[in-house]
Amino acid sequence: MKLFQYHRPTDTQSALDLFQKNEGAQYIAGATNLLDLMKKDIVAPDHLIDISRLPLNSIQNGPLGVTIGALALNSDVAMHQIITQQYPLVAQALLAGASPQLRNMATVGGNILQRTRCPYFYDIAMPCNKRQPGSGCGAKEGFNRMSAIFGASDSCVAVHPSDLCVALAALDATITVKSAKQERIIDFKDFHRLPGNTPEKDNILEKGELITSITIPKNNFTKFHNYMKVRDRASYAFALVSVAVAFEIKDSVILDARIALGGVAHKPWRAYEAEAYLKGKSDSENSFKAAAALVVKEAKPLTHNAFKVKMAEQTVLAAMLAIFN
Ligand SMILES: Cc1cc2nc3c(=O)[nH]c(=O)nc-3n(C[C@H](O)[C@H](O)[C@H](O)COP(=O)(O)OP(=O)(O)OC[C@H]3O[C@@H](n4cnc5c(N)ncnc54)[C@H](O)[C@@H]3O)c2cc1C
Repeated sequence: MKLFQYHRPTDTQSALDLFQKNEGAQYIAGATNLLDLMKKDIVAPDHLIDISRLPLNSIQNGPLGVTIGALALNSDVAMHQIITQQYPLVAQALLAGASPQLRNMATVGGNILQRTRCPYFYDIAMPCNKRQPGSGCGAKEGFNRMSAIFGASDSCVAVHPSDLCVALAALDATITVKSAKQERIIDFKDFHRLPGNTPEKDNILEKGELITSITIPKNNFTKFHNYMKVRDRASYAFALVSVAVAFEIKDSVILDARIALGGVAHKPWRAYEAEAYLKGKSDSENSFKAAAALVVKEAKPLTHNAFKVKMAEQTVLAAMLAIFN
């Protein structure tokens, strides 16, 4: 591992200033992803700015919904009363991720910014346009069982690994970010990118910007919701396919529907067409089957992951049916 300088600011402005002053700086929070990347020589910052002491870990209800500080721990968020009672889909998604030990270290800001788990990204002997732009994509013609079935490009077929992000996408969250110059609020759906020709960019964050909080708008999804994750092992594994579904239903008529998928694209994948189809329909198995088919209509599998198309369709259907059983 390359030598680096370590900084531990205690207020947000100092963290932003330190980033500006030091070329080759990178923020570090719970370190559960970044440290692995450093140990494997995938990233090599000159300055590590430890943001874990910044006062950005509150979880508070406000007029727009709940605001979660970027440094709140995944475990604290999953257990918080506001989340379990008013945003249970978020708690479910968080508890499907990693292990209790990891969730006790990992922050929500870090979870949103964690890098892909594509094996070619992690193996510095292999080509990977995300790790080293212009080197090629090992996964496209290689072993791509875990790779994307939506939105991939010739340059990159990697998927975003987060569980939390799937729930945040479904619930139309926003992300507040701060730089030395400005604060801005980004819609969650626009935050992560599709790979295109620049897969090295996972999201639209600009250099030095710090995520300070995430806001989830109030919703009527507390009664009918589900997060279902399909993976190779029952725990401690990333999703092959995961699904967040949420409904607002009155007298068996679906008033609002949300469907988002994880493990299938470079970003959390919202199934807008299937959502639109469900609005006004009855909460019947037939409606859910038709919606699940719409979700995978545009899927484009690779050599080794055609199974994911059927798996995505079936997981959407199973996640919906499980709400009513
Ligand atoms: C074995 C293992 C299994 C896992 N399984 C799952 C799983 O099943 N599901 C899942 O969703 N996740 C899983 N994870 C990922 C884990 O949840 C993430 O590593 C974690 O959420 C990252 O948070 P962190 O605070 O440790 O981030 P760090 O590792 O500290 O940082 C990650 C990245 O985010 C940047 N960063 C962090 N906070 C901020 C901020 N506020 N503003 C700007 N930049 C920031 C850092 O610079 C770095 O680039 C797993 C991890 C491991 C090691």
